[in-house]
Amino acid sequence: MRASMLRLSAITLSSWISATSVAAATARVGEPLPPWREGELDIHHINTGRGESQVLILPDGTGLLIDMSGKTSEQAPFLLPSRPDASRPPGEWVARHVRRVLPAGRDKLDYALISHFHGDHMGSITPDSPWSANGYQLSGITEVAESLPVAKVIDRGWPRYDYPVQLSNPTMDNYCRFLDWQIRNTGLVVEAFQPGRNDQIALMHTRNAYPKFEIRNLYASGRVWTGEGVSTRSLFPALDDIAQNDHPGENKQSIALRVRYGAFDYYTGGDLSAVDEETVIEPVAWKNVEPVVANACGPVDVMKANHRGSWDANSIPFLAALRPRVIVVPSRADGHPAVSTYKRMTSQEVWTGERDIFITNVSDATARTTYGVDKAASVQGHVVIRVERGGAQYRVLVLDDADEAMRIKAVHGPYMSN
Ligand SMILES: [Zn+2]
Repeated sequence: MRASMLRLSAITLSSWISATSVAAATARVGEPLPPWREGELDIHHINTGRGESQVLILPDGTGLLIDMSGKTSEQAPFLLPSRPDASRPPGEWVARHVRRVLPAGRDKLDYALISHFHGDHMGSITPDSPWSANGYQLSGITEVAESLPVAKVIDRGWPRYDYPVQLSNPTMDNYCRFLDWQIRNTGLVVEAFQPGRNDQIALMHTRNAYPKFEIRNLYASGRVWTGEGVSTRSLFPALDDIAQNDHPGENKQSIALRVRYGAFDYYTGGDLSAVDEETVIEPVAWKNVEPVVANACGPVDVMKANHRGSWDANSIPFLAALRPRVIVVPSRADGHPAVSTYKRMTSQEVWTGERDIFITNVSDATARTTYGVDKAASVQGHVVIRVERGGAQYRVLVLDDADEAMRIKAVHGPYMSN
């Protein structure tokens, strides 16, 4: 009797060990990132040293690229070094990264989503931007699509691009030429992001296999999900009631969404910011976008920092509502994250509990001025969130960004989803 019980518990123990070691063996320091497996959710924060870019491989293999790390028009000395190096433009590095992590045999990206129309998220067009044979210039989204076909583009302004004013500049005009050509020649579908919906970004390959997976559209262009059904409300006053020079800026229009997989929740919201871009004595309520969006979202396990951790974003009420266990800061310049922002992110006064902060790149200037940043969980490399099948737990994997080998520098976790 005792022997058989022992044998049973030994079997149970060995199967438990093999089950956990299968998970653990998937990610070893010094080895390449093991491929995504059906049922897992991967979220890559790609470091090009330039703009921002995340690629998500959803549980059925659907690929979602959020922002495209394009060249910016700035030539400022405070920009970070290009990663892996400057031999290719950032959009090309992003396309190559996405190709490597898409499920085997997949040669088309299901979704490309542009959080807002700034060059470091969609790719600035400058006179020296190279030309495609299709009659538009290449940077960011257009550069990605040049080597990686895209099935659907989602942005905040399609089809008129007229809120709060008609958006016309070399980058937007080029983008519209790109969309026109792609729609006519490749069958590209373009949609405006619709706040409130939880079915606009859906699993495209085995739709009903993961009922606990959902992407909830939280916010865009001043409209926020109310938390009930798919209804939304407007945050901004009618434009006629505000002076044109006081119109909400592009950052405050950024698309925000929540990725939910069982108990796991992830927030991403472009360059959303707090009360105002400048210091004000009497804050204007409608400009305080962040806390409204965070309240619509609710607490999360992992968040991407708004506006790369700049001083005007990731405010106290925003962080207090999200209470993330893991924060990822995608940086591209000195001051990412800013000293005050980092202090809020690490403060036990804002919310209590452990948290780990992963920064894709910390410059020497930031290391000298953002106190405590040396205690961050990571200060260099791509940051990958790998959520296990069903969403109950996840790991954070830091990848070496010096080349394209996808070598693992560090494994954090497992963290239990809340
Ligand atoms: Zn921006």
